[in-house]
Amino acid sequence: MKFFATTVPKETKRPIIKRILVRCPSTAKLTPTGKTIEESLWAATKVKNNKLTCPHCLQVHIWTKKDVVLAR
Ligand SMILES: [Zn+2]
Repeated sequence: MKFFATTVPKETKRPIIKRILVRCPSTAKLTPTGKTIEESLWAATKVKNNKLTCPHCLQVHIWTKKDVVLAR
């Protein structure tokens, strides 16, 4: 009974975890927030204002969902 294994590719079952990055408004560099999200859940994820101490300009940025860039 092998047919289950051959019809379903393993890759589609594995969750894709993305890193949440935010673009620094001062330097335009991408900054890791230290948070990760499963890609399939991101569309339904609500993000409230978050604070991030930016390593590029050393200021605190407040970021929301629209500021986020997902990266591997
Ligand atoms: Zn910054």
